[in-house]
Amino acid sequence: MENNGASVAKVALFSGFEKELSYAIPPELVGKAKLGAIVKVPLRNTSARGVITQICEPEQNQTFKLKPLDALVREEKALTPDLLNLCLWMRDYYGCGAQSVFESVIPAVVRGDKGELSLKELSYAGDLPAEELERLKKRAPKQYAIIERFLKDPSPVLKSALDAEFSAAASNALIKKGALKEAKRVIRRGAYEDALSCAESVSAQDHVLNAEQSAAFADICGLLDKRAFGAHLLYGVTGSGKTEVYIRAMKRVLKEGGSCIFLVPEISLTPQTVGRLRSRLGDLGGKLVVWHSHLSDGERLDSWKELANGEARVVVGARSCVFAPLENIRLIIVDEEHDGAYKQDKAPRYSARDVAILRAKFCGALCLLGSATPSLETLYNTKNGKYTLSKISKRIDGCTLPTVLLADMRHERGGAVLSRILQDKIGDRLEKSEQSILFLNRRGYAKIFECPDCDYVEVCPHCAVSLTWHRKEDKVKCHICGFEARAPLTCKNCGSERVKWKGHGTQKVEELVAKLFPQARIGRMDADAMNRKDNYRKVLGDFRLGKLDILIGTQMIAKGLDFPRVTLVGLIDADISLHMPDFRAAERTYQLIVQVAGRAGRGDGAGEVVVQTRAPDAAPIQYAKRDDMEAFLEAELTHREEFNYPPFRRVIIQVFKCKNPEKADFYAEHFAKEAEAALSGIAEMRGPSAAPIEKIEDFYIRNVWYFCHAVRPVVAKLLQIRKDFKMDEEVTDYLDVDPF
Ligand code: ADP
Ligand code: ZN
Ligand code: ZN
Repeated sequence: MENNGASVAKVALFSGFEKELSYAIPPELVGKAKLGAIVKVPLRNTSARGVITQICEPEQNQTFKLKPLDALVREEKALTPDLLNLCLWMRDYYGCGAQSVFESVIPAVVRGDKGELSLKELSYAGDLPAEELERLKKRAPKQYAIIERFLKDPSPVLKSALDAEFSAAASNALIKKGALKEAKRVIRRGAYEDALSCAESVSAQDHVLNAEQSAAFADICGLLDKRAFGAHLLYGVTGSGKTEVYIRAMKRVLKEGGSCIFLVPEISLTPQTVGRLRSRLGDLGGKLVVWHSHLSDGERLDSWKELANGEARVVVGARSCVFAPLENIRLIIVDEEHDGAYKQDKAPRYSARDVAILRAKFCGALCLLGSATPSLETLYNTKNGKYTLSKISKRIDGCTLPTVLLADMRHERGGAVLSRILQDKIGDRLEKSEQSILFLNRRGYAKIFECPDCDYVEVCPHCAVSLTWHRKEDKVKCHICGFEARAPLTCKNCGSERVKWKGHGTQKVEELVAKLFPQARIGRMDADAMNRKDNYRKVLGDFRLGKLDILIGTQMIAKGLDFPRVTLVGLIDADISLHMPDFRAAERTYQLIVQVAGRAGRGDGAGEVVVQTRAPDAAPIQYAKRDDMEAFLEAELTHREEFNYPPFRRVIIQVFKCKNPEKADFYAEHFAKEAEAALSGIAEMRGPSAAPIEKIEDFYIRNVWYFCHAVRPVVAKLLQIRKDFKMDEEVTDYLDVDPF
C-alpha cells in the first residue's frame, strides 16, 4: 500500500527487536517514507535504524500517540516488495532471526549513512624535526618508511593504500603527531568496471545456435513469455554452449525492458564469463554491474544505487547478488547450480540457489538453473514436474567428451602419488606441446605426521584434524582454523626421531612433477599460491598463453575455466571426496570427476582424463567413467530414498558448540529430548552425535539431525522450544537448514 495522508509506518529494526514497531509518518516525510525505505527512528532514548515493512492507517482505537519517524536514511528503496517477502521467508525458513537476514540482504554500506564516496587522503605536513626523524628511523621503521615515501614523492595518497603498503597503526600514529595531514577526496567509483573481466578480447557477435541450443532457447523463451514464475533446468555437458543460451535469454529480457540476475558460484574465478557478458550485453541493460566481495564500500554503494534506481538492469555475482535491489526482474540465472559455494556457512545459512527460486516466485520471474552435473535435488524436481528441463547432450562443434581412464592405485608402488599411466601421459603431452592440468583437492605438502613407534598422529591443538606440512616454510598448518607452528622433528608422544609424513598435497605434486619432468613449465593454483592478489590471473593468463605446460591446483581451478589446448587432466586422488562422512559423498565424487573431465579437450583434440583411485569399482566413479548420469541418478536416488535423505526428506541440523565437551553433550541431549516429544509426527530425529570434525577452534561440536517433509513447522517448533529452554551460557546453538 502506498502512503496517503497521515499514516503509520511499521518498521523492522535492523538490530534487537524481532517485532515490528509502529511510527507516525511526519508531514515532511509523507510520500517519501515508502515501503522498503530505510529510516531512522527513535527508540527509548536513542536512535535506531530499520526498514519500513508496511504502511497503514492508524488504528481507530489507538489510545497513545505514536512517535514520528526521525529521518529517511536514503532516497532509494532498500527492499522491493519481493525482497521484503524474501526476507520474511528466510527468517521463517532458516530460523535465523530477522537481523541476520537484513544484514545479508541489505549491504552494510547501504544501511549506513554513507553518501557520495569520499576517501581519506594523506599528505606529508613536512614539519617533523630532524631529531624526531632520527628517532622514528630507529624506533618506528614503518612510520619512517612512510615519511621516506612522501619525501620521494610528495603527492597525496589514499589512506587505505598507504595502510595496505605499510600499516594502519603507523599512518595513524603519524596523523596523531601531525606529520601527516588528512583530506577528503571525492571519488566516482568505477573501479569494478574491469576489475574482473578477462583481459583478452571477446567477440561481441552472437553465435548461430546449434539445434540443441536453439531448442533449449525456444523452451526458455516460451517460459519467459508466460511472464510468470517458473523454474527451468538447462542440463548441458561442459562446453555445450549453455552460457551462450543464457546470454540470448538475457538479451531478450533486457530488450523487453526487464532486468536479470546472473549468479555464479565464485565470481573471482569467472573472469571469462564476466568478459563475455560485458561484450555481449553491451549497453542493453545499462551498465553491467559486477557484484563481488572485493568491492570497496564506495564501489558497493554506487553499484547498489545503480541497481536500485534502474540505471543498471543486469547484475552478475556470487551468492549475495541474489538480493540485488532490481525491480522488474524477469530472469534469474543460477549457473553451476550444484555448487556448494551457493550455501553460506554463517547465519543466515541460506542457499543462494534456493533463495533464487523463491525470489523468482515472489516476483513472477523465471529461474534458470544450469549445470553439467545438476544436484540430485534439482534433478528430482525435474522428475516430479516442479521444474521444466532442456538438455544439451553434445559439445559445441562436435568436440567429443574426453575419455576417462581409471588408475587403480592399489596396484602402484606404495605411497606413489602419480600412477605410471598418468606419468606416461604427462610425458606424452610435453612431447606434443600440449597442456595438462592436475587436480588435487588438498593444498600443502603432506598431510599426516605419524610416528611409526607409537602411532601418534599430530593434530591441531584447537581442532580435531591432522596438521598439514607446508614444506617450503617448514611449518605445519591447520586448514580449518589457520593454526601454524614449526614442523616437528620428533614425536611429541615418545620422542622418536623416525617420524614420517604421509599423504600428499599440491606442493608435493608440484615438486614431484618438477623432478620427473625438469623441462616442464609448471604453475600452481591453490589458496597458498594465490594469497597474493592478482596471482591467479597471472598464472591463468600464462597458462592460456601457452607459457606453462602443466597447471597443478585444487578444485578452485575446476570451475568454469575453458582452456582450448588442454588435452590431459589428472585427478590425483578421487577418493578424498568419496570418503567424506557426508550423504552427498557419492554425488560430489561423481560431479567432481565430470567437472574436472570437462576441462579436457575443449579445443580440437579429444581429451583424456586419468582418475586415480583406490576404489575403482565405487559406483560414482564407474558411472562418471561411463558418463552415465541417468544410471547414477537412479542408483543414488534409490539409496537416498532408503535412508530418507534429501531429496526425499529435508534435513535440519541443530548444532551445539561448547568448549567443554561434557556440557555440549549434556545440553544437546536435553534439548533433543524436549524436541522429540514436540516433533512427533512431523520430524524424525537422529543424535545428538559428535560432528564429523568433532572440535573446531576449541569448540566441541554436537549435531542433532531432524528429518522432515516440511521445514517451516519444524523450525517454528524448534525456535519455540528453544525460547523457553535454559541453555548454559557457554553453549551456543544454531539451526542449519538444508545443510551442505
Ligand atoms: P558452457 O557454458 O556449456 O560450458 P559455453 O557457452 O561456454 O559452454 O560454450 C563453449 C564454447 O563454445 C565457448 O567458447 C563459446 O563461445 C562457444 N560457442 C557456444 N555456442 C556456440 C555456437 N552456437 N557456435 C559456435 N561456438 C559456440
Ligand atoms: Zn611416537
Ligand atoms: Zn585448527
